[in-house]
Amino acid sequence: MKTVAVFGSTGSIGVQTLNVVRRFPHEYKIVALTSGSNTELFSEQLTEFAPQFAGSLADIDVPDGTRGFCGFSAAEKVASIVDADIYVMAVSGLAALTPLIECIKHGKRIALANKEAIVCAGELVLDAARKYGAEIIPVDSEHSAVFQCLKTGMRGDLKRIVLTASGGPFYSDKSIDLSSVTPEQAVKHPTWNMGAKISVDSATMVNKGLEIIEAGRLFSTYSVDYVIHPESVIHSMVEFLDGSTVALMSYPNMELAIQYALSYPYRYLNDGVKAFDFSVPLTFAEPDEKRFPAPATARRCLLEGGTAPAVFSIADEIAVGMFLKKKIKFTDINVIIDEALCINETKRVASISQLYELRASLEKQIGAFVHRI
Ligand code: NDP
Ligand code: MG
Repeated sequence: MKTVAVFGSTGSIGVQTLNVVRRFPHEYKIVALTSGSNTELFSEQLTEFAPQFAGSLADIDVPDGTRGFCGFSAAEKVASIVDADIYVMAVSGLAALTPLIECIKHGKRIALANKEAIVCAGELVLDAARKYGAEIIPVDSEHSAVFQCLKTGMRGDLKRIVLTASGGPFYSDKSIDLSSVTPEQAVKHPTWNMGAKISVDSATMVNKGLEIIEAGRLFSTYSVDYVIHPESVIHSMVEFLDGSTVALMSYPNMELAIQYALSYPYRYLNDGVKAFDFSVPLTFAEPDEKRFPAPATARRCLLEGGTAPAVFSIADEIAVGMFLKKKIKFTDINVIIDEALCINETKRVASISQLYELRASLEKQIGAFVHRI
């Protein structure tokens, strides 16, 4: 029996993690849960799982036997005191960074769903993981796939990583005027059911950009390409120097990637995952970087290093928040990212506080910039 702490348990990945735990009660036991402001769902989760620790941005009542924390640093406090075998980091955005570092300090397994922390602070996170001996298993489906494909060869024989991208809801229909896309249209993803921010990121292809940087960081390479694959059946591929390409296939199902991160290196758990139907045709297409420039921008940020990936990620997070509140157009998201990259000089990432300062200054810059567009 492994003990599990879930950070961001009320989100899309958090809820699916609890589904996996519920399915295998003899394998996993929840010892801590944290949430943001969804107190109703969180209360239900606390009653069901009766964890030792609970943390929430909002005020919460906790059941007897649970120690509760609330407020801005609740997740960080829970992360610092809970002793678990596996820490699932499913908080969205840069807010995951401080609790993630606290989780890493325990030197155990991190099932890492959050991508913004590794994009913004890849070196800090990976240095901490090395220092404390923590094992990071990616949950993001593409990176879980790459992690698994890399097991088939020697790390030094990797030629390139090829991420797959569904293209999101607007890729294939070139008649759609992207400047008039609404938040309601943007959050409807054709193959995945995800949180609002990542759904918008998929629609702009910023998500693939973040994933290019995430892959570059996690697997220490600049050789990261991507291909459009609308069925989302092949989750990603690695090409080795001998010309072989290894791919990972399954129907789009985040619970399988979450389960893999919990059960690795074992793969015997199965509760009805549908076997693959080979009569389904798989298709691929070249990226259209004129309509969807974000992955190319992200690749430049990966090559540049320093704060460039953080500016890309944080500017996007702020812009997506504005788009969801209908303050800017869908196409303004890329404009804001480009402007932020243009006016912020790249520096070395030396500390977490530097990134929070960068966030505060980007909020000001973008606030002023939005009045001009
Ligand atoms: P959601 O928006 O659905 O959930 C985010 C979770 O984080 C919620 O529990 C939310 O709490 C909590 N949260 C948000 N802000 C804060 C904060 N400031 N402090 C503490 N808790 C906070 O996101 P997803 O589950 O979709 O994504 C989570 C992460 O995983 C993201 O980084 C995303 O990129 C990544 N990811 C997600 C995938 C998916 O399929 N959804 C796939 C691959 C990666 P509450 O809801 O209570 O306010
Ligand atoms: Mg992904």
